Amino acid sequence: MRVVLKRRHLVEEAICPCCAREDETQSHLFYSCSMSLKLWEELGCYVLLQGVEDEAMCDTLVRWSEMDANMVQKGCYILWNVWGERNKKVFENTSHPATVVCQRIMRQVDDFNCYAVRIYGGMRSITAPSPPRWYAPPAGVIKLNTDASLADEGWVGLGVVARDSEGKVCFAATKRVRAFWPPEVAECKAIYMATRLAKAHGYGDVIFESDSLVATKRLTKAAIFFSDLDAILGDILSMCNAFSSVSFSHVRRDGNSVAHNLARVVPFGVEQCWERHCPSVVTPYTGLGSFALLLAFALLLKLFANYNG
Ligand SMILES: [Zn+2]
Repeated sequence: MRVVLKRRHLVEEAICPCCAREDETQSHLFYSCSMSLKLWEELGCYVLLQGVEDEAMCDTLVRWSEMDANMVQKGCYILWNVWGERNKKVFENTSHPATVVCQRIMRQVDDFNCYAVRIYGGMRSITAPSPPRWYAPPAGVIKLNTDASLADEGWVGLGVVARDSEGKVCFAATKRVRAFWPPEVAECKAIYMATRLAKAHGYGDVIFESDSLVATKRLTKAAIFFSDLDAILGDILSMCNAFSSVSFSHVRRDGNSVAHNLARVVPFGVEQCWERHCPSVVTPYTGLGSFALLLAFALLLKLFANYNG
């Protein structure tokens, strides 16, 4: 907001870049600027503006969660697009007519709902029991398992392993940070690290899997209802704009053993990433396949020893 920037002497003028009539405060830009007012009116969401003046946006969203879900969804997209239009005006000096923005919002709402049905099967809540073992993702999708370790006081270990539909390791990464995070926050930090690395690797369709039920439930819910504004959840969801499809899944501890052990591998330095393989300490966990091979090999050795003895 330019009023804040001006107070900090970062800009000379606090005038709204969209209408050039009033100072750009949060309330002006989103609710009373001529640019945004048109959107609220055109899209039939004017009623949402009651009582928003001088109210923190978090409180507005909490209040909206009691109102008509379809209208609130449109409202959220209006806010998002107002902010986008404002930035286009400031940084690129371009703007779009209200009708174009309205159409874009309607398309975003439709896309989101189709997408929600495809990914979550509508508003179905996740009550199906989580699998106890790891399952490979469908062809073309990368599954990223994450975990956090809080073994040492004041140190948090984060682990991420990405595998394809054949269970092959695409990369494995660990990070150790000095922090006093509660377990759910640490689990979310691990998921965030996974989203960041998945984006850096250019993945399109991804599944993020964690053994934290709190994190996966809240991410799935927040993605549908927009009600959760917890900073780290927001970071994860905004990072997810980079993917063409994304879902979050919960797996029981036994199905998350690679990430679990990765989070306990303490790398030197800040973050370490192994491409196409896991560090040797965790390879026994990367799949029953290699584990079974090792077991068979051990048995053969034993047989051989018995035979000779
Ligand atoms: Zn304005």
